[in-house]
Amino acid sequence: MEKTYVFGHKSPDTDTITSSLVMTNLEHELGNTGAVACRLGNINKETEYILNYLDIEAPELIESVEDDASVILVDHNSPSESVANLENATIKKIVDHHKIAIQTSYPLYFRVEPVGCTETILFKMYKEFNVEVTKEIAALMLSAIISDTLLLKSPTTTDEDIQAVKDLAEIAEIDYETYGLDMLKAGTDLSSFSIDEILHLDAKQIDFKDVKSIVNQVNTASINDVLEMKDDLEAGINKIIEEEDLDLFMLLITDIINSNSQVLVLGKSASLVEKAYGVTLEDNTALLEGVVSRKKQVVPIMTENA
Ligand code: MN
Ligand code: MN
Repeated sequence: MEKTYVFGHKSPDTDTITSSLVMTNLEHELGNTGAVACRLGNINKETEYILNYLDIEAPELIESVEDDASVILVDHNSPSESVANLENATIKKIVDHHKIAIQTSYPLYFRVEPVGCTETILFKMYKEFNVEVTKEIAALMLSAIISDTLLLKSPTTTDEDIQAVKDLAEIAEIDYETYGLDMLKAGTDLSSFSIDEILHLDAKQIDFKDVKSIVNQVNTASINDVLEMKDDLEAGINKIIEEEDLDLFMLLITDIINSNSQVLVLGKSASLVEKAYGVTLEDNTALLEGVVSRKKQVVPIMTENA
């Protein structure tokens, strides 16, 4: 059977990793035994906690795929977030919940829905294809929805995500509120990372019209703990701005308990953040009240004001 690489985006998060596992299992169940779960980067602390808890192995790390390889993309569709040589591969399927950012010269299975998590879509697909959602698969799906929606508190959360969490918690036999908080807290432990690693953990390159930007997000249970590293973070950010020739770097330090973000902003277009959110940056930083979602509360607002 021809190999099919199944992977999510670079700087993988829990949805990306679990979706590659869950999509691969679906492919196997549907007869595509050549499907292999892969990842494009290191596992983060939150995902590590989940995989350890469930005793599941991480997908295979890859850097590129061979020319003409078959690939399935989950949790992303933007080529800039994908495998380096995507243009030489054949995309068989995409299952995602982000804005459409790809064009192909050939038809493919393309499933994008405006829900809080890829796993919410995959849960529906399992039902549509009559494939059993085992306890283990349910736990993976549940973990990703909790992660992407910050325990159903993010504005990206839809009724479908809420229902999926309830149904999956039952199948997985997990008390999702307790498990979810433990899981999210495990993801906020930055102690073993260097400044450079923190600045690349969940970094996305996004252009707000002509403003070349990176938006990075770290979750925390205490904004002040992260701000203790402010001087070092700024030095690291300035280095990245220079290397990548950026106009703007936003580091969102997201308080998962109170659902706010402190934003640290550097670059010549920093005033765009002030304009977009009606805040004044003091020492390059400001509190963005109620902002937790990069996708829903940063990308559209920044693009509109750029
Ligand atoms: Mn993701
Ligand atoms: Mn996702």
